[in-house]
Amino acid sequence: MNESDTIAAISTPLGEGGIGIVRISGKEAFPIGETVFKPYRKRSSNYPRSHRLYYGHIVTGNNEPLDEVLVAFMKGPRTYTCEDTVEINCHSGILILRLLLKRVLEAGARAAGPGEFTRRALLNGRIDLSQAESVMKVIRARSDEAVKAAVSNLGGALSEEIGKIRDRITNILARLEAHMDFPEEFEEEIVFDGQKIEELSTLKGLLEKMADGAERSRALQEGLTTAIIGKPNAGKSSLLNALLREQRAIVHEIPGTTRDLLEGFMTVCGYPLRLIDTAGIHGAADPVEQEGIARAKSAVAEARLLIVVLDGSRSWSKDDDAVFSLIQPGQLVLVVINKMDLKQRIVIKEITACRRDYPIVQTSATLNLGIDRLEETIGDMLDRELGIIAADSPALTSMRHVAVIRESIELIGEVLHASGHQPLEFLSMDLKEAWLKLGEITGAVMSEDLLDRIFSEFCIGK
Ligand code: GDP
Repeated sequence: MNESDTIAAISTPLGEGGIGIVRISGKEAFPIGETVFKPYRKRSSNYPRSHRLYYGHIVTGNNEPLDEVLVAFMKGPRTYTCEDTVEINCHSGILILRLLLKRVLEAGARAAGPGEFTRRALLNGRIDLSQAESVMKVIRARSDEAVKAAVSNLGGALSEEIGKIRDRITNILARLEAHMDFPEEFEEEIVFDGQKIEELSTLKGLLEKMADGAERSRALQEGLTTAIIGKPNAGKSSLLNALLREQRAIVHEIPGTTRDLLEGFMTVCGYPLRLIDTAGIHGAADPVEQEGIARAKSAVAEARLLIVVLDGSRSWSKDDDAVFSLIQPGQLVLVVINKMDLKQRIVIKEITACRRDYPIVQTSATLNLGIDRLEETIGDMLDRELGIIAADSPALTSMRHVAVIRESIELIGEVLHASGHQPLEFLSMDLKEAWLKLGEITGAVMSEDLLDRIFSEFCIGK
């Protein structure tokens, strides 16, 4: 990929809207901007001034106006990419945005690849790799918490933490290397002494805390997979509707699975839930339905949170037993006794006694009773389960980071395990590898391959 030419892309979503932006970045950004843009007022001698907005028109090669726009010319390095940048604020429509981009490309820019603007910000040293990755996390965040975590990493919180840990490993490595190079000077000293072991254990603990916290981050990022289960007519769909309320608009069907599974997102107490609708699970069914039921069951097995709906107006039945038998170890379970507005036939005490300590909430989905209480209970459960991860360590919002950290933990574990009976060279090698691995998070160590993999997930224009 050429890193020095001038790139351009539509940086806002392609669609109808108030404003759309075409962004140009690189050495030729200003000349290209000046070619395609005709300002309304006569140019002053120092036109175009940096970081000023100019009003005028984008014109074709024949000087015909394409759109009425505001254009910002921004001199590097005080820009997103650190390069000269021109942003054309135009009307947002699919056709007009494409026409403007085409005009800019005609004038000499190259169409940017996914994430290429951010890639340049990285290569020009404005941000590091974990900050670059956070850009996409901010864009894709599905809850307030996820935005907070990603924005904090965008500001460099994760890089700073990893940087500190790497520095501490460097200190240990320096001592080891010195000893290997000048053993005569260290004769009296036990090289891998208690102090270093303690320091390494502390660092391993810090990394473990970060990796363990990743589940919380992932849940915040992708939504905690949640299934509402219960026998037919218990009120699952009604409950889903009551929970979704105005959020209903964001329920969508996942293509290809519409026959049997529906997915939707909602936020409860700041936690995004990825809801799986399991209306399909019931006993009697024809062979076609059976397939759907099997899929729904396997989706339930993957859920982290199960909301088990019981019909309070009917007494306990075998169907309820079947529903409870779907619960897997390790799943969070919340029992809802629905239809509280009707005469109650279910005995709460019996449920509590035989169904362990699952929290129980009574609701009437159709009358909207108990729904707030249900949301609070879900929030409390998730706070307890996911909130234990100390908020003071920066969130790992990327699976790549988690994998890298887990590998480093393993390497440090090996060093600790081998200290005392393995030659220093081996210990030093493993420790150095852990140090290099951690560098992959911030981009202190990065390959073209890694960059391509990361930026391929980006949207064009970012
Ligand atoms: P599902 O099969 O579990 O999805 O159940 P539905 O949500 O389709 O509800 C089955 C029937 O029970 C419908 O007629 C609902 O109107 C009714 N229903 C659901 N929740 C309540 C409730 O809280 N109170 C009363 N009285 N009826 C309810």
